[in-house]
Amino acid sequence: MESCTKCGKPNVVIKRKASGQALCKDCFIESIEKKVIHTIKKEKFLEKGDKVLVALSGGKDSVVLLNILYSYVERHFIELCAVTIDEGIKGYREEGVEIAKAHAERLGIPHKVVSFKESFGIDLDEIMSREGHRGSCTYCGVFRRWIINRAARDFGATKIATGHNLDDEVQAIMMNYLEGNTENLAKIGPKTESESEMFTVKIKPLREVPEKEIGLYALAKGLDIHLAGCPYAQESFRMEISNILKDLSKDHPTIMYSTLRGFDKIRPYVKEGFTHDYKFDRCEICGEPSSNRLCRACTFLEELSK
Ligand code: SF4
Ligand code: ZN
Repeated sequence: MESCTKCGKPNVVIKRKASGQALCKDCFIESIEKKVIHTIKKEKFLEKGDKVLVALSGGKDSVVLLNILYSYVERHFIELCAVTIDEGIKGYREEGVEIAKAHAERLGIPHKVVSFKESFGIDLDEIMSREGHRGSCTYCGVFRRWIINRAARDFGATKIATGHNLDDEVQAIMMNYLEGNTENLAKIGPKTESESEMFTVKIKPLREVPEKEIGLYALAKGLDIHLAGCPYAQESFRMEISNILKDLSKDHPTIMYSTLRGFDKIRPYVKEGFTHDYKFDRCEICGEPSSNRLCRACTFLEELSK
């Protein structure tokens, strides 16, 4: 039987092709926590006294993120709060909301559930029943960002932490590169600095952890997570890229890491060359920061009201 390359104990839970490591449960858990803490330090994500809002869906990424960030609360370094967004997807979102609530309650973290319906007067199921809609994920992304930004201000949060993992980040790099979308490429990174003081800085502490390992961490720690898939998840370009990357990773196990590292090296030049200077004003309807007369959320809502 194979034994852990770190401590020598039997019962290996993971063999990392990329590094040749085989780890037992305890060493695996420790390695993930160390990696996240290392990213937080390296990227200077947290300062003492920060109030960090976690976008908590109840899925594996956000639940693991909340739990690892909680160690900073225990050391009295930061405060945490959490927001869960209820898009109004019948038969899917309810369970995630319950799981998110339970985690926040267990850790004693102030938590809010905010629905599309209460924020915008319409939920995703309703939007999807309309003719000529733009596709579920388009609304979801824009409305979700709107709610998270507002929640951050309501909570008085100084940072917003999201559960983006290594796979998400590399998919975004490849997608935007292949589409030639330099503007979006320039926005990718560990931290989104606020272009307007009304935006809270967003951080991605799980950015260097592969998706698979986040799932395994949740399992190893016995964390309850929402496993169901969204019924609206579409065959998307992102999914095609994800499949290609997974395929490539079989024979080239370090490819995700090397893509991220390579991108991080050229990132400052991409930013310098392709960042536009937006002038942020307030959306005429909702008052959120927007570079146009109306923000994207209000533009969509206007469209939907026609
Ligand atoms: Fe929203 Fe579902 Fe699309 Fe995710 S997959 S963005 S939850 S519609
Ligand atoms: Zn608006």
